[in-house]
Amino acid sequence: LANERESMYLVSEYASKYFQEVLHETEEGKAIGLSYFKERGFTAETIKKFDLGYSPEEWEAFTSRALEEGYQLEYLEKTGLSIVKEDRKFDRFKGRVMFPIHSMSGRVLGFGGRILSNTKKAAKYLNSPESDIYHKSKVLYGIYYAKQAIAREDNCYLVEGYTDVIQLHQSGIENTVSSSGTALTSEQIRLINRLTKNITVLFDGDAAGTRASLRGIDLILEQGMNVKVCTFPEGEDPDSFARANSEEDLKEYLEENARDFISYKASLLMEEAKNDPIKKAELIRDMVNSISKIPDNIQREVYLQECSRIMDISENVLYASLAQIQKKDS
Ligand code: ATP
Ligand code: MN
Ligand code: MN
Ligand code: MN
Repeated sequence: LANERESMYLVSEYASKYFQEVLHETEEGKAIGLSYFKERGFTAETIKKFDLGYSPEEWEAFTSRALEEGYQLEYLEKTGLSIVKEDRKFDRFKGRVMFPIHSMSGRVLGFGGRILSNTKKAAKYLNSPESDIYHKSKVLYGIYYAKQAIAREDNCYLVEGYTDVIQLHQSGIENTVSSSGTALTSEQIRLINRLTKNITVLFDGDAAGTRASLRGIDLILEQGMNVKVCTFPEGEDPDSFARANSEEDLKEYLEENARDFISYKASLLMEEAKNDPIKKAELIRDMVNSISKIPDNIQREVYLQECSRIMDISENVLYASLAQIQKKDS
């Protein structure tokens, strides 16, 4: 089994090299892929650093080449790079710009591939399937490039997408990673926890995801980490914001708008509840539930006091609610 995984790593590494070669050395790659990345504001240096690539608009260009080079179909299939159907084989990624996903130590585990025009019916991003080397729940996009900066800055920025990671790195904010579309998991948080106790979550300014993402943040609290959140103006994400602003203004924005998670959530929920007492009661329970995840007694108490202020409800009520939740959990 160790040998099998090694073969899968080798195939993935080869694929990454292949997609880069197509991007930089073929007419199609240059005309379509490279110009796409340049239009997005990625520099040549950035494109190289992240090993970005391009998969040609053909049915089996990659699969044929890999087989010619002596890679076995078994591993092409196991990594999901090739799809075999009734003795026909074709490429999973076709006419997409390619983002290799690296492990903490820099091995290629899988890929994200983005379609170039938003008009096509296909999904915007296509990812490698789960495999013996690619476990989505245990991987953070960008961790290989970010790990030193995370430790040095003693903080980690967590963003939603590939291009957010890349653009922030290019803007000098290298302590940035992404869970890339999947809901945040405890295993992903543990990867960060080894490097720093501080996470700042950067939400796209599209509201849709924000409420859903709040759950994932409770998992960060559970690990005793400090969480801040920062939102972006409507319609902006960290990538578009970084592109539209100078490095200095971006850094200033992050510093000024990063808010402690607990008070952010309390204010957000209060806005939602407005003057509806039933809804408010429900949201207070939600809030106290988040606070109950914090392992440190003193920290929990400080937050309860703060919530009491923000949500305009007595501390005693919050303590009682906390006690109830803790009793249920034990
Ligand atoms: P872009 O700027 O290239 O449009 P994005 O990262 O801003 O991409 P979002 O729509 O904000 O895209 O989604 C965040 C992340 O969720 C993406 O980076 C990707 O990992 C994942 N994602 C988005 N759309 C899809 C999809 N259709 N299928 C699978 N994953 C997706
Ligand atoms: Mn989004
Ligand atoms: Mn986005
Ligand atoms: Mn974007």
